[in-house]
Amino acid sequence: MKTDDGQGKPAVDWARVRADFPILKRQVHGKPLVYFDSANTGQKPEAVIAATEDFYRRHNANVSRAVHALGNEATEAYEGARGKLARHFNVRADELVLCSGTTFAMNLVAYSFALPRLKPGDAILVTRMEHHANIVPWQLVAQRTGATLKVAELHPDGSLDLDGLHKAMTPEVKLLGVAHVSNVLGTVNPVAAICREAARRGIVTVVDGSQAAPHMAVDIAAIGCDFYAATGHKMGGPTGTGILWGRRALLDAMPPFLGGGEMIKEVRFDGTVFNDVPHKFEAGTPNIAGFVGLGAAVDYLDALGMENIATREQELLAHATEELTKIDGLRIFGTAPEKAAVISFAIEGTHSHDLATLLDLEGVAVRSGQHCAHPLLQWLGVGTTCRASLAYYNTHAEIDAFVAALRKVRTLLA
Ligand code: PLP
Repeated sequence: MKTDDGQGKPAVDWARVRADFPILKRQVHGKPLVYFDSANTGQKPEAVIAATEDFYRRHNANVSRAVHALGNEATEAYEGARGKLARHFNVRADELVLCSGTTFAMNLVAYSFALPRLKPGDAILVTRMEHHANIVPWQLVAQRTGATLKVAELHPDGSLDLDGLHKAMTPEVKLLGVAHVSNVLGTVNPVAAICREAARRGIVTVVDGSQAAPHMAVDIAAIGCDFYAATGHKMGGPTGTGILWGRRALLDAMPPFLGGGEMIKEVRFDGTVFNDVPHKFEAGTPNIAGFVGLGAAVDYLDALGMENIATREQELLAHATEELTKIDGLRIFGTAPEKAAVISFAIEGTHSHDLATLLDLEGVAVRSGQHCAHPLLQWLGVGTTCRASLAYYNTHAEIDAFVAALRKVRTLLA
């Protein structure tokens, strides 16, 4: 995709794009909002808000049950969103499970795929940079099966030690959980190469795409993993939406995770016939309006072009990194060459919660804490960090305002 018009002008008018996000016009504590917490949840463009509202105003009904007009419209809208997501991620729609987010997706794989298969002596391999959603479900499964958890470590710049990872892929490893992009370090992992190595050894791969899907074009088929999870609310969609893609043969062989309505073909007291994949894994009434909104979010991202978004965010990342590096005593965690627009940092002599609290008074929203990645923070040797996470709707001027605010609050804390 072209990122300029051939005469050096950007192909996308980012000021107009920003105007699509009503919340970015807000003031906080009397200051213009600078929202640098998009890795936590992304802001929603008007198109997503309107699609969700329109669903409730005009089409609201349950899916796959009613024969009436509204029921058909709701089903079409919900399945339409599945189709849009499948095209966006380059996978088959009948392999795409719609769920509440990555946490649900990982637990589905843990309980339906790993639990029945793993046994004492088996191992699950994860990396040091995983979010708790890609650690704790495996620990729960390991406890119940007698399997063990192995950890692949990082280089000091926050990139994966690939040699170490490959060496850790020993015969007892049956499953590998790896982040596409780290939510703390921003590191972009070479997941296609990693999944190739794992496949050669017969290891099933689960990729956590939560932080990749908002920032870059994700072609799941090209990655070659066995499962890929992503969260809709970080992609501009409503909260409570996400996807799990899995290879059809694996999904077919897996028992349901939750039982109830929608996931069955026939129920008798002497046995139940389950629905086909992906509906087998979608028990109960789904977040219909949420997925209508997520479908609109995918339309919005595709119209902008994920390559344009990636280029824009790399520019913002470069500017923010350059400006932050000028601040004495500021340390950035995660400087891998392949990095998304997520900057974790600490300032010598200050606590990250104090920094974030004072930044908030300046209108700047950053996250402070352990970012659901305790083992990574333990490795970094810090209790907490501040995290500024950028999106294409942010601006260079906001970065300058953030850096100025940081200099100011740092003086107050000195
Ligand atoms: N994995 C990563 C890398 C994340 O950043 C997050 C959210 O912060 C998750 C998983 C969990 O996503 P959710 O809470 O939407 O299930």
